[in-house]
Amino acid sequence: MKVELLHHTPLNIASHAIRTCWQSFDNSDNGGEKDKELIDRVGNKFKHSSTLEHLNYNFYISGISRALLQELARHRMANLSVKSSRYTLKELKNIEPFMLDNFQRASNFITLTGVEIVDIASIKALNNLQEILKSGVSNDKAKYCLPESYKTELTWSINARSLQNFLSLRSDKSALWEIQELAHTIYKALPEEHQYIFKYNIKNSSSIHL
Ligand SMILES: Cc1cc2nc3c(=O)[nH]c(=O)nc-3n(C[C@H](O)[C@H](O)[C@H](O)COP(=O)(O)OP(=O)(O)OC[C@H]3O[C@@H](n4cnc5c(N)ncnc54)[C@H](O)[C@@H]3O)c2cc1C
Repeated sequence: MKVELLHHTPLNIASHAIRTCWQSFDNSDNGGEKDKELIDRVGNKFKHSSTLEHLNYNFYISGISRALLQELARHRMANLSVKSSRYTLKELKNIEPFMLDNFQRASNFITLTGVEIVDIASIKALNNLQEILKSGVSNDKAKYCLPESYKTELTWSINARSLQNFLSLRSDKSALWEIQELAHTIYKALPEEHQYIFKYNIKNSSSIHL
């Protein structure tokens, strides 16, 4: 999987929002150490968390399974624009069928689990789907036999408060392994000077294969 940070709100917007409440703009160091400490104190420690909603992050996430997508979509305080299987399944139509032992080639289209019997079943599903598409069935009908491992991509936008919630829930070892990996990859894609805001939320997971 790949996560690219497309855009983010500078920290001084959150500190400006906080300083609005006290009208203490003159104390700002324009997103420097003083403002960073203020954001942590008010947004995290005082739990005046709505101030963190002024920080927004826009990511491009690719190479994740549709199984993961359906869990990601449960996070309502975020916005998604997802690659449409209705419009893009033709990508399978004009290529050779997949060999059951060529995991590398198949991994361009499916997320591999490392469990051979599961991964071979996904490749078979890919070949079945391809056969159906080649026979002339429309994407709208053929998509119903997509395996959950089929890869997708999306633009994902989220504010810092909701991202804290996402990272707490999804970097935990009780979450699905692939979403744990996504949570850690998203955290690493954040600007370094923003990562401290999420230090209480990100957890070390032992089961992920990063
Ligand atoms: C380990 C794990 C297992 C899971 N298993 C399942 C499962 O088996 N089946 C299943 O269906 N889901 C499952 N989920 C998904 C889970 O129930 C949540 O839908 C998902 O984690 C999104 O969390 P959220 O609601 O906090 O996030 P968001 O939807 O982003 O909401 C963020 C926060 O906003 C507030 N909020 C949002 N909407 C409302 C609302 N309508 N009313 C009040 N407050 C609101 C809440 O404080 C919420 O925490 C699982 C999640 C985890 C982490």
